[in-house]
Amino acid sequence: MSEDCLFCKIVAGEIPSEAVYQDEHVYAFRDINPVAPSHVLVVPRRHIAALDEIQDGDEDLLGRLLVASKKVAEQENLSNGYRVLTNTGPDSGQVVFHLHFHVIGGRKLGAMA
Ligand code: 5GP
Ligand code: ZN
Repeated sequence: MSEDCLFCKIVAGEIPSEAVYQDEHVYAFRDINPVAPSHVLVVPRRHIAALDEIQDGDEDLLGRLLVASKKVAEQENLSNGYRVLTNTGPDSGQVVFHLHFHVIGGRKLGAMA
């Protein structure tokens, strides 16, 4: 756990969140400011600031995050499609520096960027 990391505190239960999916390595919860009817954040329980901090050896965890994202989409009944994305660094608009995949769906989504 990283001190002063919002999502570490959410994973630890120190800040409340609405869980959607969880397992040994992954926690998924509803975004506080959803941009679509379904907007879930899928995060590793272990603190990693962003995709650009991923290292050799993290392949298993990254795979788990994507498998969890797919399970979230299924649970949310996003059978008509959805988007999975992660922001990395200032140009992307990343505001929380704990790696997270946004799973967004429930309406027709606009063009990227
Ligand atoms: P980023 O821009 O870093 O990719 O996205 C961060 C996301 O975290 C935003 O969509 C924002 O709404 C969400 N968020 C920020 N603070 C909280 C919080 O305290 N609880 C929850 N559930 N989501 C949050
Ligand atoms: Zn963290």
